[in-house]
Amino acid sequence: MAERTLHPETLALHAGWRADPTTGAVAPPIYQTTSYQFRDTEHAANLFALSEMGNIYTRIGNPTTDILEQRVTALEGGAAAVAVASGQAASAYAIQTLARAGDNIVSGTDLYGGTYNLFTNTLPDMGIEVRFVDPADPDAFARAADDKTRAFYAETLPNPKLAVCPIGEIAAAGRPLGIPLIMDNTAAPLLCRPFDHGAAIIVYSTTKYIGGHGTSIGGMVIDGGNLDWAAHAERQPMLNRPDPSYHGVVWAEAAKAHGPVAYALRLRTVLLRDLGAALSPLSAFQLIQGVETLPLRMPRHCDNALKVAAFLNERSGVTRTIHPSLATGVQKDRAQKYMTGGLGALVGFELAGGEAAGRAFIDALQLFYHVANIGDARSLAIHPASTTHSQLSLKDLELTGVSAGYVRLSIGLEHSDDIIADLDQALTAAGA
Ligand code: PLP
Repeated sequence: MAERTLHPETLALHAGWRADPTTGAVAPPIYQTTSYQFRDTEHAANLFALSEMGNIYTRIGNPTTDILEQRVTALEGGAAAVAVASGQAASAYAIQTLARAGDNIVSGTDLYGGTYNLFTNTLPDMGIEVRFVDPADPDAFARAADDKTRAFYAETLPNPKLAVCPIGEIAAAGRPLGIPLIMDNTAAPLLCRPFDHGAAIIVYSTTKYIGGHGTSIGGMVIDGGNLDWAAHAERQPMLNRPDPSYHGVVWAEAAKAHGPVAYALRLRTVLLRDLGAALSPLSAFQLIQGVETLPLRMPRHCDNALKVAAFLNERSGVTRTIHPSLATGVQKDRAQKYMTGGLGALVGFELAGGEAAGRAFIDALQLFYHVANIGDARSLAIHPASTTHSQLSLKDLELTGVSAGYVRLSIGLEHSDDIIADLDQALTAAGA
C-alpha cells in the first residue's frame, strides 16, 4: 500500500504491519525477546556495519516497537522514528543527538514541568546550555542563537497558557542557519502536523493521547527527514564529523543508503545504545492499540473540550477560561493556522476564590480523576498551585501562567453532559 496517500484513520490501523508471515496473525505480535539469531557471520557483520538494517538486540530495536514507530511516522509524514521508554527520554535524546557539552539550544519558556527541569538543571549539568525565550515571539529564537546553537525547541500547545506555538515562523528562522526546530506535539497528535509547517523533529510523550488508555509510559522521536544536515556541516558536527563511538562513521554519509534518516540513525545507534531507555515490547503493543483508535478519539476529546470551555466561560464564579477557542488576536490566528484538526482537549480556568476555592473544587469532583497527567480517555483535573507548581514562588507562578485559583482540566471521552454536570456540582461546592 502507498501509505502516504492514505488517510490517518487508515494509516492508524494499517501502517507498518499487515500480517505475520509465519502464522498469519493479524494483530501485531508482542516480540518479547531480548536478542535475535543472526543468519550467519556475514549477516551479523552487515548489521553491525549498518550496511543492512535488522534486529540485533531489543535495547536498540524490536519488531513490535518497529510497528509502532512506522505507524506514527506515517501519521506525521516523517522519515523514521525511534520509540523510547518515556516522553522525558524522548526530549533528552532528541537534544543529545545534536548537542554535546559546550553547545546550546534555544527553547520556548512554556514547557511541561519535567522538560523545564531537564532544561534548567540536568542538561546544564551535562554542559548543554538551554537559552529560554518567549515562544510567542518567534524572532527571539534567532536572536538568542549563536554558532553553538544546535536546535530550537518548543511545545505545540503548552499548558497552562494554551497559546498555540508559531511553529512556521520559528522553523523558518532556524532553517537557513541549519538549526532544526524540535516540536513536542504531545498535546496535539493529529490536530497539528508540525512537519507541514517546517519543524524538523517531533517529540512525543506517547503516554498521553497516543496511548490514550493510561496504561503505558512511552516516548517517541520522529525524524522529518527534511533538513539537509550535510549542507550545514559546521552547524551540526555530531552528524557530519567522524563519530569515534561508532568506528568513525559520519552519520550524514552512513544514512544515505537508508534515506534521509541520519538523525534517527544516530539517535538509535548511539543514544539508545549507550543510555538505554528502551521501550518494552509489551508497552509498544499497548501503544499500538492506542494509535489504532487515535483518529476516532481526538475529535471527541476536542468536541467535549469545546463544550466545557463554553460552559465555564459563562459560569458564575469562574473569572477566566483558557482554551484556544476563546483566544483573540494573534493567538486566535495561530490556533486557526496550526490546529487544523481541532483545538485540543486541555482547558484551564481560574476561580474567584483563589487557592481555597481551587482545592475545594478538586475535592468535590466525583467523575474527574485528580491526577498529574493529561491525555487519558478519562477526564482529569489538577490544581497546580497546590501540587505540580507548589515549589514555585508567587512571581514564578505568575510567569508560568498559574494563578492561585487556576485549575487544569484534561477533557476525556465521557458524555459531555456528564462531564459538565460534574464540573457544575464541584463549582457549586467550591462556592462558585
Ligand atoms: N511532554 C509533555 C508535553 C508532557 O505533558 C509530558 C508528561 O506529562 C512529557 C513530555 C513527559 O512525558 P513522560 O511522562 O512520558 O516522560
